[in-house]
Amino acid sequence: MMGTLTIAGLGPGDAALVTPEVSAALAGATDVLGYAPYVARVAPREGLTLHPSDNRMELERAGEALRLAAEGGRVVMVSSGDPGVFAMAAAVFEALEGFPQWQDLSIRVLPGVTAMLAAAARAGAPLGHDFCAINLSDNLKPWKVIEQRLRLAAEADFAIAVYNPRSASRPEGFARALDVLKQAGCGERVIIFAHAVTTPKERIETLLLQDARPEMADMATLVIVGNSATRRVGRWVYAPRRAS
Ligand code: SAH
Repeated sequence: MMGTLTIAGLGPGDAALVTPEVSAALAGATDVLGYAPYVARVAPREGLTLHPSDNRMELERAGEALRLAAEGGRVVMVSSGDPGVFAMAAAVFEALEGFPQWQDLSIRVLPGVTAMLAAAARAGAPLGHDFCAINLSDNLKPWKVIEQRLRLAAEADFAIAVYNPRSASRPEGFARALDVLKQAGCGERVIIFAHAVTTPKERIETLLLQDARPEMADMATLVIVGNSATRRVGRWVYAPRRAS
């Protein structure tokens, strides 16, 4: 008897932002897998086995989830935010390529509120015009690709949501990213640092990119760089809907 695998997003932190669909999947689960801090957001109960794992074990974790589901489990793989945005859904499908025997498993991907949407809502409407999202982690791609994408995004005048801006193991990346954006002429653009959005530690800072310091970001920060028309109104930031 084959089970099911549900890949679910827990949203940015606040329990009120977990969708009813995701709550129902968790309520019926036999196994929950994911990066330990995300699994910690799931309440333990009888009949549910929690499988927390390390951050970099994505493919192993995905293979384990597929195996548990193939053995009949109702398995939920959790990510923060949305599972398809720099998270586990892609890792599961990558693992599935290696296991043709499991390709008929019942797999569902349940969306969640991704960090850039929660951050944008707090700031106003900085993603109200065209935008892109860039992951600054160079674990899975070379730095020169990141730099090129930042440059081209600036040239295309997208607002840019930056995920994973800075970690203890890569303290210099975000400083380099700010330099690339300054060289691309973005010094006068608005930049938003949205830290731990929808949690008790939430902090939102808005300033001009030329005044930003690398230490303003950490791994719990989502950074939004406005487009050239993004502006402030009172305490809000928005991108006008028209482009000239
Ligand atoms: N799947 C997640 C993103 C995982 S990458 C999503 O859709 O949101 C992890 C990065 O997301 C962090 O480094 C940070 O940039 C961002 N992030 C996640 N939760 C956040 C929050 N509550 N506040 C601000 N940024 C957050």
